[in-house]
Amino acid sequence: MRVAIVGGGMTGMSAADELAQRGIAVTLFEKDASLGGLAGSFEVNGIHLEKFYHHLFTSDTGMVALIRRLGLEEKLQWLPTSNSYYVNRIYRLSTPLDLLRFSHISILDRVRVGLLYLRTMFVNDWHPLEEISARDWLVRMAGEGVYRGVWEPLLRTKFGRYADQVAAVWIWNKLKLRGSSRGKKQEERLGYLHGGFAQVVEAWERRLRDQNVKIRLSTPVERVTIEDAVATGVVVNGEHLPYDRVLVTTAPELLTHMAPDLPDDYRRQLTDIDYLANVCLVMELDRSLSNTYWLNIGDPTIPFTGVIEHTNMQRPEDYGGAHLTYISRYLDADDPAYTMSAEDLLDSYVPYLQRMFRGFQRDWVQRVWAWRERYTQPVIGLHYSQRKPPFRAPVQHLWHSCMAHIYPEDRGMNYAVLYGQRVVDEMLSAERER
Ligand SMILES: Cc1cc2nc3c(=O)[nH]c(=O)nc-3n(C[C@H](O)[C@H](O)[C@H](O)COP(=O)(O)OP(=O)(O)OC[C@H]3O[C@@H](n4cnc5c(N)ncnc54)[C@H](O)[C@@H]3O)c2cc1C
Repeated sequence: MRVAIVGGGMTGMSAADELAQRGIAVTLFEKDASLGGLAGSFEVNGIHLEKFYHHLFTSDTGMVALIRRLGLEEKLQWLPTSNSYYVNRIYRLSTPLDLLRFSHISILDRVRVGLLYLRTMFVNDWHPLEEISARDWLVRMAGEGVYRGVWEPLLRTKFGRYADQVAAVWIWNKLKLRGSSRGKKQEERLGYLHGGFAQVVEAWERRLRDQNVKIRLSTPVERVTIEDAVATGVVVNGEHLPYDRVLVTTAPELLTHMAPDLPDDYRRQLTDIDYLANVCLVMELDRSLSNTYWLNIGDPTIPFTGVIEHTNMQRPEDYGGAHLTYISRYLDADDPAYTMSAEDLLDSYVPYLQRMFRGFQRDWVQRVWAWRERYTQPVIGLHYSQRKPPFRAPVQHLWHSCMAHIYPEDRGMNYAVLYGQRVVDEMLSAERER
């Protein structure tokens, strides 16, 4: 059996590894010049840095196992990180004690936020949460004051016009994840691979090549060919290449572009899933902006979603003394900010940065990069388990696994690895049933 995998992000790499381990011939097609997809990197002062900030949670066991398998475990660090919330000023929100001091909301509401985290830990059955929006669930669990004072601004800055559609399952999962990735003193602990996750991608690529996976970089798949309701291969550079199975790991909408002949119901299911784009501004500064790693923005007048100071988690010395900060912004792809140059984006952010960080001057910024991707976060709405696309397409020999399949968890490298393995398991068990 020969399998074509479309997309060399973490899902495609994981599926390729799984197939190759079972002796199946795999070709991995990636449109970009390197593997890694959203977990890709660039170089700052000779060191790899992710284009979009990346870290691990303690529950990311699939990624930890992969890091071990690739012999990189000595570089994996679990670090205490600080979390803050910006609304009029920066409030540190890393520990239960910080929460008690969070004077932006009433003392009663602070207790309610604490109870919300606690109660979330005991919710194990997520099915009822499919039927209620994040908004209604948060109001029910913690009251209108907590929703308006804390969560509504966060949902709006991340999901924009989709904020009211987000299901409670999504926020429950986020609260549980962040609440459980903690050390003994209840401080958040996040994982990072010293020297960057690019090392995972590089070592994994070597491992795939050693297993005879054919990797075709800078090779966009133009079309998945379907004849008589059977996927028969792919078209690259105008040439049809026959394969016995095709596994697509791109966003659902891209699959509909590559395969215009999909059945109508399935096509509708794929195009019904909304995705946010993201533009991430990476600033190299000559000083630190604050002492926090992760700064959530709770002020709806600020256009970005979060400020993540990477060098408050890793040391600036590791990057030649540079202070590295991401400014993340989820948005619609037709938002003019999505296509702005890095310099223009920074110019437009300066007034907000001056409001947030005392004394901020544009000339603190030595260099700036803007990374953008169209499909970065599926919007998880109500009853998603019924709307989620299947691994096995209703076209024989066509398979699909991407961020939109991950549920009830939210997308992340860990689940890309696990779902890449799962789709192969399902593909091969379908094979055995034949
Ligand atoms: C801002 C941001 C922050 C994040 N932070 C974290 C984090 O802290 N921790 C974490 O674990 N995860 C994080 N993630 C999520 C993580 O990056 C993704 O879940 C994971 O990398 C997705 O992998 P994937 O292979 O499913 O998708 P992708 O990475 O999107 O891979 C799809 C691949 O398909 C390729 N492709 C598209 N069209 C074609 C075509 N026609 N032919 C060939 N190839 C094609 C693309 O170039 C891409 O390489 C973050 C993501 C974003 C956007």
